Amino acid sequence: MFVFKAAVVGAGTMGGEIAQAIAAAEIPVVLKDIDQKFVDTGLDKAREVTKGQLGRLVKKEKLTQVEADEQLEQVMGRITGATDYSEFGDVDFVIEAAPEKMEIKQTVFAELDAVTPGHAILASNTSSLSIAEMADATLRPHKVVGFHFFYPASVMPLVEIVAGVTDEETIEGAVNFAQTIRKQPIVCEEVPGFVVNRILNSAVGEIWRAQEEQGLSIKKIDEAVGAQNVAPMGPFFLVDLLGLDTVFHVAEHLNESYGDSFYVHQGMKNLVSEGKLGAKSGGSGFYENGEPQIEGDGEPDGEELAELMSLKAIVEACLVLEEGVSTVREIDLGMMAGAGMDPRRGIFPPFTKADLTGLDVILEKLEAAEDKHGERFAPPVTIRRLVAQGRLGQTAGQGFYAYPQADEGDQTETVKLETRGDVAIAWLANGMMNAVSPDVVKDLGTVWEKVKSSGEIGAMVIASANPLVFSAGADIKAFTQMDEAGGEELIHSGHALLRDLGQNRVSTIAAVNSLAFGGGCEVSMACDFRIAAESAVFGQPEIKLGIIPGFGGTQRLPRLVGPEKALEMNLIGDAITAHSALAHGLVNRVVPDHELFDTALSWARKLAGQAPLAVEEIKKVSHKGDLDEGIEAEKQGFADAFATEDAKEGISAFLGKRKANWKGQ
Ligand code: NAD
Repeated sequence: MFVFKAAVVGAGTMGGEIAQAIAAAEIPVVLKDIDQKFVDTGLDKAREVTKGQLGRLVKKEKLTQVEADEQLEQVMGRITGATDYSEFGDVDFVIEAAPEKMEIKQTVFAELDAVTPGHAILASNTSSLSIAEMADATLRPHKVVGFHFFYPASVMPLVEIVAGVTDEETIEGAVNFAQTIRKQPIVCEEVPGFVVNRILNSAVGEIWRAQEEQGLSIKKIDEAVGAQNVAPMGPFFLVDLLGLDTVFHVAEHLNESYGDSFYVHQGMKNLVSEGKLGAKSGGSGFYENGEPQIEGDGEPDGEELAELMSLKAIVEACLVLEEGVSTVREIDLGMMAGAGMDPRRGIFPPFTKADLTGLDVILEKLEAAEDKHGERFAPPVTIRRLVAQGRLGQTAGQGFYAYPQADEGDQTETVKLETRGDVAIAWLANGMMNAVSPDVVKDLGTVWEKVKSSGEIGAMVIASANPLVFSAGADIKAFTQMDEAGGEELIHSGHALLRDLGQNRVSTIAAVNSLAFGGGCEVSMACDFRIAAESAVFGQPEIKLGIIPGFGGTQRLPRLVGPEKALEMNLIGDAITAHSALAHGLVNRVVPDHELFDTALSWARKLAGQAPLAVEEIKKVSHKGDLDEGIEAEKQGFADAFATEDAKEGISAFLGKRKANWKGQ
């Protein structure tokens, strides 16, 4: 599953920009279409996008114009235009971006099956067609996967990775490839609209419906809803940008698939039949020269419309979750990266929004909306269940996500202690990436000492206060800024702490909610147990920086997953999914995202009730062997690797977002 060369089939609206994203990540790519003129249009698009990206770096003075010109040619030099398959014999990953017709897709997939190596992953950028049906046209159905970009692909960070009859290894390959080309992947099952288009259309449809039923002014709606912080821009204005035909096609498809809960705007249908498609048809769509082209001058209640839209998004997100299509974290991430719901701008994705509002409040509002508008607003089972459990959202400490409710009194900066009877929770709370910094090591040590000395606590859960990241790894910058003596002391005390987590009578459980890389993965492995959320991913990517794991990754990983798999993870550095982690023995359980904290707490409660001395003895003798020796060897190896030129180069390349140039020194 290593991608040395990729290909894109179809050089239209999407294809050119997709090829550009791949080439910009330093991977050679073939861009194929049926006619040279289409290939040329795709290449021109790729050049224009690259020029724009580099131009912005020049403006910020991160590059000189000469460097930018050089890089432009390098990126374009990696894209080979083609009108046949002669360059496909050594590709590892193909993205099909041909027109949205099943006959075309099946023909292309059958051709790809014959011209690419058997190991190659065949992906489709389809927005609505069945991946399993395309896979049927090949002899490798398990290696066929959806890889759904959002328009414009050079700007939108999201890729939905859609499982047809896809195997876990292919999903992992697709997730890792998406990350390599600097996109945010979410994984989902194959259903109409996948995750983001489904939720977005369900929600925006309520505004379309209100506009037509009440004869409201679209201009006033755009202004009023735009001001309510539920979407990045007004809904009609947005459709003009995306293209009325594209949006109409998706809306109709979803209406046919899911019924009248998905509204199709009749005015949009008429505009499409007149060829008025928005920006792409010269600016005529819902608006022409700023003037609305849809009848209606009614005054909208912006607040009410925004609320209907948010409530419907929450209902649809719950249905996506309840059908097992995707997970809480991935659904929210998808809406952030694919629908522009940016919490930094006060626009929250559905589950976060529900937690912030309070699930009891949401339940009440849904019941009222169901009375007024019908069963499409019926409160989903999950909301009823969480309310019944008292999991009312952020203020209650738990809703769809878990939130720290730190003990009163002194707290450290980066790790917050919460005590619930004989169970403690150490919340990792170190910013966006929740990096394991020198302060985190120190603070976790302080919390651990408190827990041990309380005499009443029998188990400790290590959880992340960040809903989107468990811990992305060591804070490389902070570690490189330490002097030698300080660094050495930190490594020793860090190891002593992690060793104690696995030997003390207080049992330890890592509740891994999402990304656990490098130091984050190592902290979790030092605990007695790991409970993973479905959307968790694990990895030891140190090798990519030219260094080696420094907090037990070379020692604990082989003890958990066996030496072969550990060597693979440590030498390749790619991430594995929660299900794969379970299959290899890295985690004890995988549970739905929103059940993670309850499950970890229940394990903690059980363990806290066991005989402490026996716990301690079992832990100590179970870990007898050469772990201490191994750790000593790793300490030495880490120090040696860290002092090399390659480590300096690897870290500077990582920080500079470029490929490292290894010298073996
Ligand atoms: P497009 O019509 O702009 O481009 C399709 C290209 O494929 C054309 O250049 C066409 O000549 C070429 N083509 C046709 N048959 C081919 C074949 N047999 N081999 C190689 N090339 C062939 O379409 P698009 O908007 O780029 O959409 C492509 C795919 O991406 C569709 O599946 C669509 O659903 C999906 N998609 C589109 C968007 C969007 O906003 N446009 C967003 C996400 C996904």
